[in-house]
Amino acid sequence: MVTTRIAGALSLALIGAGAITPASTPEDEAVSSIRYEVTFDAGTARERVIHVDMSFDVTNDDVVALSLPRWTPGSYSLDEFAQNVVNVRATQNEVDIRWDKADFDTWRVYPTGRGRVTMSFDYGADQLDNGNAWTQPDFAFFNGTNIFLYPEDTDLSFDSEIVFRTEADWRVATGLTAGGVARTYTAADYHELVDMPTFVGRFDVDSMQIGGRWYRLATYPEGVMAGRDRTLLWDQIQRMMPPMQEVFDAVPWDHYTTLLVFDESFGGGSALEHSNSHLGIYHPNFLGSPTLASITAHEIFHGWNVKRMRPADLWPYDYDQAMPTELLWISEGITDYYADLALVRGGIVSPESFYEDTQLKIDQVSGTPPVALEDASLSTWIAPRDGTAMIYYPKGSLAGFALDILVRDASNNARSLDDVLQSVYRDSYVGGRGFTEDQWWRAVSEAAGGFSFEAFHDAYIDGREPYPWAELLPLAGLRLRADVTRVPRIGVTSQGSAEGVRVAAVGPGSAGADAGVQVGDLLITVAGVDVGNTDFGAVFRASFAGAPPGTRYDIVVERGGQRLTLPAELRFEDVTSYVLEEDPAAGEKAARIRNGLLTGSTQS
Ligand SMILES: [Zn+2]
Repeated sequence: MVTTRIAGALSLALIGAGAITPASTPEDEAVSSIRYEVTFDAGTARERVIHVDMSFDVTNDDVVALSLPRWTPGSYSLDEFAQNVVNVRATQNEVDIRWDKADFDTWRVYPTGRGRVTMSFDYGADQLDNGNAWTQPDFAFFNGTNIFLYPEDTDLSFDSEIVFRTEADWRVATGLTAGGVARTYTAADYHELVDMPTFVGRFDVDSMQIGGRWYRLATYPEGVMAGRDRTLLWDQIQRMMPPMQEVFDAVPWDHYTTLLVFDESFGGGSALEHSNSHLGIYHPNFLGSPTLASITAHEIFHGWNVKRMRPADLWPYDYDQAMPTELLWISEGITDYYADLALVRGGIVSPESFYEDTQLKIDQVSGTPPVALEDASLSTWIAPRDGTAMIYYPKGSLAGFALDILVRDASNNARSLDDVLQSVYRDSYVGGRGFTEDQWWRAVSEAAGGFSFEAFHDAYIDGREPYPWAELLPLAGLRLRADVTRVPRIGVTSQGSAEGVRVAAVGPGSAGADAGVQVGDLLITVAGVDVGNTDFGAVFRASFAGAPPGTRYDIVVERGGQRLTLPAELRFEDVTSYVLEEDPAAGEKAARIRNGLLTGSTQS
């Protein structure tokens, strides 16, 4: 998954992953012929619920225990979907039968003998969260983990039929396999069933073929992504696919669906990956933005990395408990790195923009308390509050960048991180299992011609050492240039509050301190510039560009209900920022490696 800082993002499971021949035949199972009917129409929309009827055959009166998942793969937190279940009812041959709960997310149904049993409920769908379910008067999205119960005593290999009941002129979009009848779908096993988020209602949808596969784009509300914005995203998807496919030399889906919801109430952008689809939720200001293309690439790349090539700790998915792994930095961080590569290799962004995005990640990591990637991977389940909760995305992306450079350098650019991914993908997913940490590092070492990465692992993956950019970047013909600029500074730290911008701290000896600004003051204007202006810093710096130190200006504050004008004097401070750029003096090999990073080529 991926979530931007403003809001957030994420990951998935596989069709038939780990499919092992079932040890039992359908006749041995306590329940068989499982069918789910999902009703969402104008009536249930008014109640903001999705109605679910699960039916199945039983051969006797043995109690059947049915459970609901506690989390959606890719969204690594326990969300307890059972808390949204209301109006539970169990029937057999249209007669109510007894039910009770065995656990907070498990219901027990008591059949009266051989026959067909139906368990029904309403799911409260009012959460604008890509791992959950949300309704509007004409639309709903939901995840299978929210509403599809599973019998507790099965290995989840059971197949099922899914039928959607909705208004005649509303549509359905889902990654599920269509059955022969309209609005009827099938799932080969439970993992596939719950990996298919679905849109029901009024929305726009169109499709195109890329590299012999069908790609579909479904967007809500109708008309929100039309004209140039829609053409642009389609063009970006067409450009990002070839460089991503090249990494694995295989496209493991017949059709892929991008499901997008745009809503003013959502602050930022966040998307969750699945094996042949992803669900993204964005503020409308993401329309036409490079960030939308970047998140889209991230989620599609997850179709290989995490939905299929997945840490053994997550294989197979267990929906009833947290599944921590030290390797989430590979699933998320390296996916983030390849999203950046797909954009630059596909010509969606320039090399300069790729360098700038990488530089921003370096800044983000250095501005966060040091944390080991393996520790951050484990901790995501509890979302630490020290600012490190999501750091394995940018930091894991930089680890991928560093490993790519080291593998290319050790192999004289004959091999790259692409070879590592392809090898791990083949030896784990294609063999029907997850990958281990040993397997990962063995593949890295092999790609680098036997070079040991033990010290790298101990310092930068399991350790908290800062990355050695001064040594790494020259191997790829790159460098960090320090830019020192003199900028006007007030020396006041502020925080947004309900009343306005409030002073949280005043630097000793700063212009603000000498003017008499106090902690708790509400800042109104500085040098006539409204502090509420989102461009305040830029406008303030621009208005004093070239002005001599000591230039007078006023700071207007509100203190105890009184408005005060405090005269201040202009002070400057040196600020160092770093720029990641190409080194024009790079040698032939380093320039070849740099070109390899930007284009995917491995020419030695
Ligand atoms: Zn992700």
